[in-house]
Parts: sequence; structure tokens; C-alpha cells
Amino acid sequence: MTDLLSLTPDAARAALADWLAGGAAGAGAGAGAGHAEPGYRVTQLVPRLWQRPAGSWEEATDLPAALRSQLAAAFPLGRLTLATTQLSRDGTEKFLWKLADGEAIESVLIPEGKRRTLCISSQVGCALGCVFCATGRMGFRRNLRASEIAGQVRELVLREAGAVPTNIVFMGMGEPLLNWDAVDTALTILNHRDGFGIGARHITVSTVGILPSLAQLAKRPEQFRLALSLHAPTAQLRHELMPIEKKYALPDVIQALTQFRRRVTLEYVLIGGKNDSLAQADELAKLARPLGALVNLLPLHPGGAPDLTPSARPRMLAFERRLKRHGVEVVLRRSRGLDISAACGQLRVELEARRKVRPQEHARVE
Ligand code: SF4
Repeated sequence: MTDLLSLTPDAARAALADWLAGGAAGAGAGAGAGHAEPGYRVTQLVPRLWQRPAGSWEEATDLPAALRSQLAAAFPLGRLTLATTQLSRDGTEKFLWKLADGEAIESVLIPEGKRRTLCISSQVGCALGCVFCATGRMGFRRNLRASEIAGQVRELVLREAGAVPTNIVFMGMGEPLLNWDAVDTALTILNHRDGFGIGARHITVSTVGILPSLAQLAKRPEQFRLALSLHAPTAQLRHELMPIEKKYALPDVIQALTQFRRRVTLEYVLIGGKNDSLAQADELAKLARPLGALVNLLPLHPGGAPDLTPSARPRMLAFERRLKRHGVEVVLRRSRGLDISAACGQLRVELEARRKVRPQEHARVE
């Protein structure tokens, strides 16, 4: 059996063409049987993977019944099962997907004007243990397959035909650059015209700065966007908040960004009394300015270390103003989905803990 949905569209096309011609792609499931299918079949089959996805080959009723059952045996189409969904008052929608082995991952759909941004997961859990992150508390379970990463988009389109998100951000559970092979393939599926056809500039990979895979991403010719989870302007504070600093030190990561040849975004979660002073804004400006980076200031969501609190609103505004005074382009993001546990990993952690999030636990940021 071959997992077509974990191949790039070109590789999936080649595997199907080979199988239709009686080759070995579907070894063990009717391969080489000389299907004697017309040559146009492959152009009928590939769109059923991502463009007009079929939930199963049985549902592709434009194909002969015998071919459908042979396809089901040779190329089963794996699905994510929707375990639960939550819709926020602000329109943010969170999905908890069950995987075939019983693990669970999350995606968050954030509508904003004409944009529909889907925040997707790349791993089950995460090994990196950033102190402010709910996923980090969970620890690492396993990498996702490319089909499980791109499958988060596929399932949305299966729920509603044509509902391809306009933007994708790899900011859900996991560190995408620690699962590079699958993320590399998933990026192709998301962007390819025979995949979901989402423009590379509308796809953002967010990383703490895993240097070897960052170099691989930089080599790709498409203009995928990069966001660095920075969260601290000095190596010392970053070390306290993000244990990865031990392995990939801030100066090396910043140096790698200078070689990225594309504009990067610096993600910075504002944590009360930790990283939100004006002196720290000055330090952050020193990093952002030479890079020409956009700084995204994010309110802290609940779910990480219990002793951390979000910055107060006036402090956030002062921090933003200070960066602007330094000539840094900065956006202060609103919290989205506060009534539905929309931070990455939060829903799963909370379901596992079998407790509900009380609205008063959340800081309110307008
Ligand atoms: S912030 Fe990202 S890298 Fe850090 S623990 Fe959470 S998921 Fe992992």
C-alpha cells in the first residue's frame, strides 16, 4: 500500500501512472495486474487527492466501481477524524483531530476580513518545552506524516467544498523544522497547483530556529515566509524561556536569518514583568532593525507555566510605541478565540486534564 497523500503531487501522479500501467507502485494490492485503464485516468485521479478531495475512493463515483475498489486496496486515503470543534464569539474556530493511532492534534481557523488563516500542527506534542506554551507541557509524542499535516487542510475542504484557507501558518503543535522531511513535502502539497494551490507568500513556517533545517528551507526556491519565535531579546532571557537556546544560540540564529534573503517576522509573546520592559524593547529593536524584520507582538495565552501572566494592555502599547520610535515595523496582535482555548496545545491539554477553561482565567485584550 502507498500513502499517496504523503507524496508530493508529482510523485503521486507518477505512482498512479505506474500502477495504472501495471507497475509496482501499489505492491501487494493488485499491482502489476495490467489494469488496462485509459491514459486519461491519471488526470481524473490526481484531483481527487487534494483539489476536489474524495473522502474515500468509494466516494469517487465518476470512476468505475472495480477501479474504485482496486484503488482503495492499493492507495487507501487516510483521514483525520474530527474529535471536537469549538467556535469562538470572534469567529475563530478550533479543531481537535484524532489520528489513526489515537493521538490528537489541533488546527485553528482564524477569519479576518477576506482572509481565512489556518494554523496547523506539525508534530504531536513538542520536545522543546518553552515555558509559556501549552504544547510544550505535553512533551513530544511523535512527528506527523505529510498526509497528516496537509490533511488538516484536506479535512476542511472535505467539510466544505472550496473552503481552502487563504493563508497557512505552521504555528500549531510542534516545531516544524524538527520534522523537516514531512514539512518539506507538506509545503509542496500546500503550494503546488495540483495540491491546494496556496501561494508560497501566504504560507508561513514558524520556528524557534533549528539551524540545519532552516538552511534547507532557505534553499527552496518558493517564497515561503519565515517567522522566528524569538520571545526574548537577549540570549540570557531566551535561555530561561526557551531551552532550545542551549543548542541553537540567539546570535547564530540571527546570523542564519540574515542569509534567508526574505523578510522575516519576529514573534514575541509579551509576558508581564518578564520580557515587556522598555529596555527590552530597545534590545529587541537592535535585533529587528538590521534584519528589516516585522515584529509581531502577541498576548500571552493561558496554558503554559502557571506563574506567567500576560502583560497589561498599557504596557503592551508602550512596548509597541517604543519599537515604532526605533523605526521597527510592529503589529500588536489581538488575542483570538480566548473563549475557546485557542492557543496551540491548549485544547488537548485541557481535554486531557478534563477541565473546562473558565473565562476569568483569560486576560482580555481588545
Ligand atoms: S512554542 Fe513551539 S517550539 Fe516552543 S514548546 Fe510550544 S510548540 Fe514547541
